[in-house]
Amino acid sequence: MRPVNKGNCLIDQNGHQIIFSHYSDAKGYLIQRLGHYCSYCERSIRASLAVEHIQPQSRQQDLGKTWSNLLLACVNCNSTKKDTDVNSTNIGDYLWPDTDNTYRAMTYYPNGPIHPNPRMPGHLQQKAQNSINLFGLNKTPANNSKATDERWIGRIDVWGIAEESKADLKDNDTPQMRRQIVKTAQANGHFSIWMTVFHDDPDMLSRLIDAFPGTCRNCFDPSNGYMPVKRPGGQC
Ligand SMILES: [Zn+2]
Repeated sequence: MRPVNKGNCLIDQNGHQIIFSHYSDAKGYLIQRLGHYCSYCERSIRASLAVEHIQPQSRQQDLGKTWSNLLLACVNCNSTKKDTDVNSTNIGDYLWPDTDNTYRAMTYYPNGPIHPNPRMPGHLQQKAQNSINLFGLNKTPANNSKATDERWIGRIDVWGIAEESKADLKDNDTPQMRRQIVKTAQANGHFSIWMTVFHDDPDMLSRLIDAFPGTCRNCFDPSNGYMPVKRPGGQC
C-alpha cells in the first residue's frame, strides 16, 4: 500500500481553509495530489474513482467534508469497507497510507497475495492484516463471488509486466529505457509491485517514488538504497 502525503488542508486565496460543500468536490484536489490511483489496492483508475471517508460519514457526519478524513478508493475497496465502524477509538488498530509507512508494513508476492511484513513486530503485523482485511485486498477470483473484483488478477498481470520490464532493462540499460519503464508503471499503477520487483535498483526506486504523485518521500531512505523506513509520526 503506497504511503502518501496529501499535503495540508486546502487554503483559498484569502488564507482560509476551504470547506467543501460536498465531499465529492474534493475529488479533483485529491487526484491532483495523489494521482489516479486507489489509495488502498493501488490500481490505476481513470473512471469511477471515488472519494473515500476513512471514518465513515454515516457515523461521523462532521467528518464528511474534512480533508484529513478523505482518500481515493476504487469501487471494490470502497464497497468491501462499506460502513465499517472506523472511529477515533479504533482507527489506530489499522495502518493508513496517509499516516503510516504502509509499504514497509506489507509484503507483495508474485502470485497475487499481500501479507504483513514478517520482519515487523507482531502487533504491527496484526494492524497490517486488519487493513488488508478491511479492504478485502486478498479476495481471490476463487473466493469472491463478485466477478467485477479484478484486483488480485490485476496484481498478477502487473507483476508480470514489471518482471518483463526488468529483463528488458538488463538487456538494454539506457536512460530512455528507464524512463519508458516508469511511464509503464504510471499507466498500470500498483506502486508496491514495481517497488518490490525493482527493490535492488535504487535509481529505479527513486524514479518510481518521484513518478507517483504524492508518494511520501520520508518513508524511504535515499542513503540506504531507498529502503523503506519508519514514517515520522507514524505507527510504522
Ligand atoms: Zn482499490
